[in-house]
Amino acid sequence: MTSTQDCIAVLNAGSSSIKFALYDAHAEGDLLFRGQIEKLGLAPHLIARNAAGAVVAERSWSDGGLDHHAATAAIMALGREMLAGRPVIAFGHRVVHGGVDYAAPVRVDAAVMADLAKLIPLAPLHQPHNLAPMAAIAKAAPHLPQIACFDTAFHRTQPALAQEFALPREITASGVRRYGFHGLSYDYVVRQVRKTLPLPTDAKLVVAHLGNGASLCAVRDGRSVASTMGFTAVDGLVMGTRTGALDPGVLLYLMQERGYDAGKIEDLIYRRSGLLGVSGLSSDMRTLRQSRAPEAGEAIALFVYRIVREIGSLAAAMGGLDAIVFTAGIGENDAATRAEVAEGCRWLGLELDEVRNQRGDRCISVTGAKVSAWIVPTDEERMIARYTSETLAG
Ligand code: AMP
Repeated sequence: MTSTQDCIAVLNAGSSSIKFALYDAHAEGDLLFRGQIEKLGLAPHLIARNAAGAVVAERSWSDGGLDHHAATAAIMALGREMLAGRPVIAFGHRVVHGGVDYAAPVRVDAAVMADLAKLIPLAPLHQPHNLAPMAAIAKAAPHLPQIACFDTAFHRTQPALAQEFALPREITASGVRRYGFHGLSYDYVVRQVRKTLPLPTDAKLVVAHLGNGASLCAVRDGRSVASTMGFTAVDGLVMGTRTGALDPGVLLYLMQERGYDAGKIEDLIYRRSGLLGVSGLSSDMRTLRQSRAPEAGEAIALFVYRIVREIGSLAAAMGGLDAIVFTAGIGENDAATRAEVAEGCRWLGLELDEVRNQRGDRCISVTGAKVSAWIVPTDEERMIARYTSETLAG
């Protein structure tokens, strides 16, 4: 039983930042406040806002030495201060990789922690950071339940073919397969679509999560049937600093002819490519849109081109397309990207309403378009809070 005072804390830990949010504990509980600590290891900065968006706490650390454990402790201390005696009854965590075994949120114990740690080689840039706050909380508050929610879980409904690479069976059997990511975002957006949009429940959707990380998900009957991300979150679309799909022959060439080792390749495909690499300027869409440099325009054109091609591929995987749903930083805010993607999808029957698109309306296609287009803001933290309270309730 939860009391009306009880709260749920959500942590979404990345390599250099931890996002956090606090909610009332019941299933659709109000947001109390949310924030993040950014630039961990460099110049850590914490900011927290209330539900209305007003800044309620801000703090910087000059020594730069705050690691994920210390940052988690700082967030717990802030929570105690802001909640003024209201108890946190559970923590929910975003975990990038659940492997083949975890298809639903799970209560974390030592065995689960050990299982999730075994998946670190499959997501070296995310998984260790997702797990660090769990270990810190297990030590500081061992009595508090912690719930792990997986970015891969939403995609476990995909047909076997959509999850397979054309590799020898022994390698596939060892877990080298397409997992798909951004699942918490897709789960939230698809639930919103089904609850609020006038689309049939069996609609064939492409959800476009276009942020710093970017991917597309084909959704049929509310379930993931294919996605552009694969074994890792570097596959698929052009992203802020990630290549997206890349001929593996390029990597062989770089290793054999140009002396690249694994570390250098990792740095290239995760941190130096994508919008940043092509533009030579920035990974940030706002900066690129404001630039007059031809390279910035080229980076955006490549970003859009890849999205349009992949939408065609996902429509083929579903045998049709009824609607495209835009979400995340670029999808929700950049009318120009939405217009350019829509132009490339005109042949599918998508016709954008330019006024609605510029205004950022919920529906941005013309009335009666064969393929409709929508903006649905994502909220991964809300999804984690929902899962956490559902898991606690059994
Ligand atoms: P996310 O990872 O979802 O936070 O998205 C980050 C991306 O969204 C960055 O490339 C930002 O430049 C982009 N973005 C955020 N707000 C806007 C905006 N108003 N117009 C264009 N791009 C935006």
